Amino acid sequence: TRGLADADPAVFGGLQHEIAREKKQIELIASENIVSKAVLEAQGSVFTNKYAEGYPGKRYYQGCHPSDEVEQLAIDRAKALFGCEFANVQPHSGAQANGAVMLALTKPGDTIMGLSLDAGGHLTHGAKAAMSGKWFNAIQYGVREDDHRIDFDQVERLAKEHKPKLIITGGSAYPRHIDFARFRAIADEVGALFMVDMAHFAGLVAGGVHPTPFGHAHVVTTTTHKTLRGPRGGAVFTNDEAIAKKINSAVFPGLQGGPLMHVVAAKAVAFGEALQPEFKTYAAAVVENAKVLAARLKERGMDLVSGGTDTHLALVDLRPVGVTGKDADEALERASITCNKNGVPNDPLPPVKTSGIRVGSPAGTTRGFGPAEFREIADMIADVVEGVAKNGPEGNGQTEMHVKSRVEALCDRFPIYPEL
Ligand code: PLP
Repeated sequence: TRGLADADPAVFGGLQHEIAREKKQIELIASENIVSKAVLEAQGSVFTNKYAEGYPGKRYYQGCHPSDEVEQLAIDRAKALFGCEFANVQPHSGAQANGAVMLALTKPGDTIMGLSLDAGGHLTHGAKAAMSGKWFNAIQYGVREDDHRIDFDQVERLAKEHKPKLIITGGSAYPRHIDFARFRAIADEVGALFMVDMAHFAGLVAGGVHPTPFGHAHVVTTTTHKTLRGPRGGAVFTNDEAIAKKINSAVFPGLQGGPLMHVVAAKAVAFGEALQPEFKTYAAAVVENAKVLAARLKERGMDLVSGGTDTHLALVDLRPVGVTGKDADEALERASITCNKNGVPNDPLPPVKTSGIRVGSPAGTTRGFGPAEFREIADMIADVVEGVAKNGPEGNGQTEMHVKSRVEALCDRFPIYPEL
């Protein structure tokens, strides 16, 4: 059989463009990372051919012994990594993992509570546009206006008033540690179950540089492709056997059909990598680099939501420099730096424009950038943004070209996927 280049030059072309892009751009999207060759190999494997509905030892199809082998490895490694009793590694994505928890523990019409989208929460935590917001009575809490930290007075007040069945925390653009113990106390007070969606910071928990939600949450969900540096996918964890049973039934047959066994195999590889001592060094570097990046952006005149970061990401408020998120992220892409526009708390601009950008250190840290490189990246961002502040959306072409060549030089010094 023919290889991709030969069999389908059009798709091969797109793939080559993506490889070139990843090699030559600085990736600051906080939810992205650069997986190992081993993860790529497992994910691009013949396990994609296999139907393995069910769980290890209890499948609905024959020929599942190899699938059992890799899924059991993924489960055992995940449990060791997070120090928990039960793991379901089959959710196809983070959204599926969160959907499975809702299917397992709640009914349509029940009250749930989560961090609002504009305060850094995720769509699946009860946003109006999502199933979680349409099928549930979704109450949303936010952050305090002065310090942008979760407003626990509001959380407590809303919880007492609405008596949610499920309280959710975690988010996509919240740069600070979350007080899980305080959430659990509020959940206990009102008889709610407490779920932590650690999608963004799971790798930091695995690396021991972030407080763990285990011991506080009834159930924990994650994606596997962000700081955790695995294939795209999701997982659900718990220490409660009764909840674990409900979660397993909710993932399959409740929400999904056959697991993506090639992805499950790649999750096993990634969890194995995260168990190595080097991953602790990586996770610590991710946090240190994010702090350097954020601090330098602040020195260059931008505001940071909450004043800084405890994690892998910073949310940059561009209002002091008079630039929108949309104009900034487009100018930065012209200069080969990728990030995303992001609303800031109480953003006066709509989501298609926004007043901020979200930047993160996980991918850059994987390719070997340290504090010196992240400081330089912050300066390059500031130079490009200043061009937009002066000239409007088209920016300063000369500065952008200059930054682009500095980015390429930096990327050449820290190459990725040399074999591709
Ligand atoms: N939960 C959080 C906190 C996220 O940030 C995301 C993705 O950005 C998800 C869930 C959803 O993950 P996925 O895109 O894999 O469905």
